[in-house]
Parts: sequence; structure tokens; C-alpha cells
Amino acid sequence: VYDVIIVGAGPGGATLARLLGPGARVLLLERRRAGPAGLLPAKPCGGLLAPDAQRALSALGLGVPREVLAGPQLFQVRAVDAPSGLERRYPRSYLNVDRARLDAWLLELVPPGVEVRTGCRLRALRTGPGHVEVVFEREGGLSTARAGLLVGADGALSRVRRDAFPRAPEAPAWLALQEVRDVSGADPWYTAVFDPAITGFYGWTIPKDGRLVVGAALPTGGDAPARFAALLARLAALGVALGRPLHREGTLVRRPLRARHLVLGGGRVALLGEAAGLVSPSSAEGISFALRSAAALARALEPGLPGWRERYGAATRPLRAHLLLNRLKVPLMYRPWARRLLLASGLRAGPPPARAGR
Ligand SMILES: Cc1cc2nc3c(=O)[nH]c(=O)nc-3n(C[C@H](O)[C@H](O)[C@H](O)COP(=O)(O)OP(=O)(O)OC[C@H]3O[C@@H](n4cnc5c(N)ncnc54)[C@H](O)[C@@H]3O)c2cc1C
Repeated sequence: VYDVIIVGAGPGGATLARLLGPGARVLLLERRRAGPAGLLPAKPCGGLLAPDAQRALSALGLGVPREVLAGPQLFQVRAVDAPSGLERRYPRSYLNVDRARLDAWLLELVPPGVEVRTGCRLRALRTGPGHVEVVFEREGGLSTARAGLLVGADGALSRVRRDAFPRAPEAPAWLALQEVRDVSGADPWYTAVFDPAITGFYGWTIPKDGRLVVGAALPTGGDAPARFAALLARLAALGVALGRPLHREGTLVRRPLRARHLVLGGGRVALLGEAAGLVSPSSAEGISFALRSAAALARALEPGLPGWRERYGAATRPLRAHLLLNRLKVPLMYRPWARRLLLASGLRAGPPPARAGR
């Protein structure tokens, strides 16, 4: 019997395991299986650590090691309103990282006392008197384990959330498609393209290690490939060099627009990170929320299990307020007239594009 079973070794689950590890019996289950280099396959992600994620790492006392970094580091955003052709460039610092290596590093920091099992997929959970039991699949066989608390850190499609809180409404899901393209010397900024004809969310480009990541959060439905093709055409028209595609990946991302989309858990099941619905509805940035909610849950569990839910609620108050602020940005960024006003007001606010040092 464990004190805590964590499902999901993304940034949220690995961080919680690291923080709880020294004092508790912890089992960390991850469905991904390590590849030949020992790396878990990367979750589709832009791999940008925004200032909030940098602050979260600072609060955790962590610095990002060199092998996790990708290049170039980014200091500028190019935001484009496609229908009007208005654009604005503004300074914002991102740490550009390799997502697989970020996850691997956070997992390496988990202390040896924690039992980490990869290649294990949660299949079912049952709550009993004084414990919760999970059933997980490994190499085709089923195993069970019990704990005082189960933590769902299993991302946007959380099985823990679905099974433990079937009546909790899920935030709307968007299909996030990304293509890695062979472009050396891509422009050293993060481009965000807003085009309602393509998506009610947005599209992006991120230069990474001599390649260009092109992505978009698209409505779920069969026409995503056509919408993605329209994004590529739009980017080409904006003068973005696209090279040839190397591979395409996709997954769902949640967009929490209502307080009820956030579910922290209750009883013997807690949720954190994207499983809890903690991800920015304006930009889909979620690593900071995963790190911060993991730290909040670790703090809430410090005095023991009784009363954890109230303490977790209190510890996540700043995080939830932050998400609310993010939500307030959505109408500004995603109503075409408001966005045009925003971009027009700042047309000369940004520095000229920096091409040096490419
Ligand atoms: C295309 C795209 C680009 C993004 N770009 C950025 C970005 O640049 N910056 C940023 O901050 N955020 C970005 N995000 C959001 C960010 O990736 C997530 O918010 C963040 O990874 C959430 O962390 P997490 O630990 O909560 O969950 P995840 O990172 O999703 O981790 C969940 C883990 O649970 C495991 N798992 C799931 N189900 C099971 C199961 N049944 N059994 C066992 N294990 C399971 C998964 O394999 C995974 O390892 C992006 C998202 C997408 C889709």
C-alpha cells in the first residue's frame, strides 16, 4: 500500500513525485515507455517556457540544465491578425526547450525512494474504505495497487478525472496539430497568427534547433488537415520560410473558459495540471500551471491526508485567479474587432525585427 499513487509523469506528476518523494511511499505510473536513449517519447508541445513557467521553476529552486535547452532563445513575439493584415511585435522572453528532455530531466530529479513505473497505463480505479485502488496495464497484463490518495496528473484526456468525477464538465477540447519542418535559419521569434477562417484559437511558429515547429489549435472535426493547409498558405503569404515537412503530431488541448471546468478533486482523488483543467485559455500554455499545482498539492499534503482538499483549494487560489485573468484576455484576443484595436494601438510599440545573430 502506497501513501500516494500519481498517474502521469509529465511536468506536473514528476514534480509532485519529487516533492513528496523523501517523506512518503509514492508510486508514479506513466503509460509512455522509454525509448533506446532512455527518453520517453515527447508529448506534442511547443516547448516554450514562458515567464510564468520560469517563475514557477524559480519558486521550486530549479535551474534548467543546458542539455534541456533548444535554440534559439526567444525574446520577441510577432502577433498577426490575418484578416486585417495588422501585426505587432513585442518583447517577451521564452526559454526554448526540448520537451522530451524537459520531461526526462524532471523525472531524473525524482528521488530514488519513489517507485517509477513506465509503460504502465491506468485502466480503472475503485475507491474502497480508507483507500483507492488502481488497475493498470503493463505488457499486456493487468496489475493493481492501493494508496491513501490517487493523483491524476494524466493530462488533457485524464482517465482519472473521467472515472472519478464523471459528472464534472470538461473544458472544450481543441485539436492541437504540429508539424516539424526542415528550415534552417528560421526567424528568431515566436509567431502567433489569428485567423478566424482557420480557427477560433490560434496558430504558431517556433524556431527550434534548426527546424521550424508550425502548429495550430483547431476545432475538433474532420476538416483539421484542410485548416492546417490553410495555415501553411497563410504563413507563406506572410513571408515565413516553411521548408519541407519532417513529421506531424497531434493531441488534444483543453480550453477552460468557466470556473466549473477546473476540478481539483475530492475524497481520495486529487487532480493537478491539465487534468484539473489548469491551462491558459488564451495561449494554451500549461507547463507553469502543471508545476505550480504540483507544488500546491505537495504543500497541502505536508500535514497529512485529513483536510488536504481545503488546503489544496487555498494553495491554488493564486493559480486559479491567474487563470481567471487569462480568461478575461480571451474576448480581447479572440474578438476580431477587439484584437484589431489591440494590435493597431501597439503597432509601433515593438522593436524592429532582430535579424542579427541567426
Ligand atoms: C501542441 C501543444 C503545444 C503546447 N505548447 C506549450 C508550450 O510551448 N508551453 C507551455 O507551457 N505549454 C504548452 N502546451 C501545454 C502543455 O503541453 C501542457 O499544459 C502540459 O504538458 C501539462 O502538463 P501535465 O503534467 O499536467 O500533463 P502532461 O504533460 O500531458 O502529462 C500527462 C502524462 O500522463 C500520462 N498519461 C496519460 N494517461 C495515462 C494513463 N491512462 N496511464 C498512465 N499515464 C498516463 C501521459 O503519457 C503524460 O506523460 C502545449 C500543448 C499542446 C497540445
